[in-house]
Formats: sequence, C-alpha cells, structure tokens
Amino acid sequence: TKEKLAELKEIIQKANYIVFFGGAGVSTESGLPDFRSVDGLYHQKYAFPPEEILSHDFFMARPKEFYQFYKEKLLIPGILPNPAHYALQRLEEQGKLKAIITQNIDGLHQMAGSKAVYELHGSIHRYYCVKHHHQIPEEEIDFSKSIPLCPHCHSIIRPDVVLYQEGLDEGILSESIAHIQNADLLIIGGTSLTVYPAAGLIRYFPHHGSNKLVLINKEEGRLDTECDLVLYGKIGEILSEVVS
Ligand code: NAD
Repeated sequence: TKEKLAELKEIIQKANYIVFFGGAGVSTESGLPDFRSVDGLYHQKYAFPPEEILSHDFFMARPKEFYQFYKEKLLIPGILPNPAHYALQRLEEQGKLKAIITQNIDGLHQMAGSKAVYELHGSIHRYYCVKHHHQIPEEEIDFSKSIPLCPHCHSIIRPDVVLYQEGLDEGILSESIAHIQNADLLIIGGTSLTVYPAAGLIRYFPHHGSNKLVLINKEEGRLDTECDLVLYGKIGEILSEVVS
C-alpha cells in the first residue's frame, strides 16, 4: 500500500476543491466506539440496539434509559481529536479542503480547529428543552440527574442531535450538497454508508472527468468498486501520512 499512499498524495496535490465525508470511524482512534465494527456498539450487550435507543420514540418514552446510554457511550470525558481530524484541519488551512461533512456528533473536527464543518446529525455540545426550545449551555446541565430538566420551564432537555425518525436540517443539507457538487475530490472515510439520507449525499458528487472519488475504511464496503482509489486501514494513520 506504499503505492496507494503515494497515489492519494498525488490526487490531493492536484485537487483544488476537496470535500471530506465522514462517519463514526473517524473518531474511533480517539476512543469513541462506532456502531458497526466488531468492537462497535452493536456488538455490545444492551437491552436495545443503539438505533432504537437513539430514536425519537425511545427518547420520548424512556428518557431515563436514553440518558443512561447517552452518558455512558456518547459523553465519554477527555476525548480528543486524533491525527485524522488534525490532517483534515491542515488541508483546510492549506486552502484545499472546502468542507467536512460529518455524520458524527462529537464535535472533534471543530476541536481540531476545522471551520467549515457540516454536522448532518447535530452535536452533543448543544442542548435545548423539548417544550420551549430554550437553549441550555452544556456546562449548565446537571448530568448527575437521571433526566436533565430545563432551568426555565422544567421540561426535559434533549441534545441537539438528529435522532432516528427525525429529519435532517434543510440548511445544512443544501449547503452540504452544494459543496459536494463543487468538489473535484471527494474523500469518504470511516463510514459504513448505511444511514440515510446522509449516505445518499455522496450521489451528488460529479464523478466524471478528472474528478476523483477516494474511500478510506477499515473494512470492505459496497461502494469500493466505484472508487478511483480505496485504502483499507486506520484513517488517522493514512491521512497523517499523506497530508504534510
Ligand atoms: P458506522 O459505525 O456504521 O461505520 C463506521 C465505519 O468506520 C465502519 O465501516 C468501520 O469499518 C469504519 N472504521 C472504524 N474505525 C475506523 C478507522 N480507525 N479508520 C477507518 N475506518 C474505520 O458509522 P457511520 O457510518 O458513521 O453511521 C453511524 C451513525 O451513528 C452515524 O449516523 C453517526 O451519527 C452515529 N455515531 C456517531 C459517533 C460519533 O459522533 N463519534 C459514534 C457512533 C455513532
């Protein structure tokens, strides 16, 4: 794969409008489990699968169980960006990368200094109450309570993340699509491309002419045969190798 790394380096050098589309695999090297890898959340013992716990109906019916899972699996303290986040930040600083479109809700791209980050599924760093949509700063939330309540109206506080059964933000969607349509290099990394509509966005990439589609993932997937270049491995190691 020395040749593949050299090829990716060359593709990046030639590109002027890079868009990165990523998922949970971007953050596993930071210590956050993804959903579908063998060591991901699906393969751990829970009373319900993560997709059910992180659904709108489940949150409304069982907020206590929702928060138990949420605090244990998504609010892991001390999590920091890894070399994948930092490599993408450098690419943006060099003026080559125009957008990071992420399915992640962990805020690690921003923590690494990236500016043009489109969070398709929201962020665990923003909260609001279900009744009046009062915005509550995360540092003011008492997570020692089994269900955090709004200090203004005492309704339940929820994270500003897109739960299963909920729609995506139209503005973020349309801006993401515009970036993908303008891209001359789309790098897809650390995602199983199974969560829709997010995964469908990559279909807007104009994959013709000298435009390149690159995939970086730990394991094989359905899109592999469509790509100009596929690298199997840890995305943090791969990106830090090819981005100076
Ligand atoms: P997924 O779990 O379905 O797929 C992750 C993919 O990344 C897998 O194909 C896996 O092989 C690959 N991968 C894991 N570690 C990798 C590494 N170090 N380098 C390269 N590839 C690696 O995740 P998804 O496609 O993002 O879909 C899951 C949904 O769950 C998303 O909608 C996301 O919002 C949410 N989620 C977010 C986080 C987070 O914010 N960190 C964590 C778990 C799940």
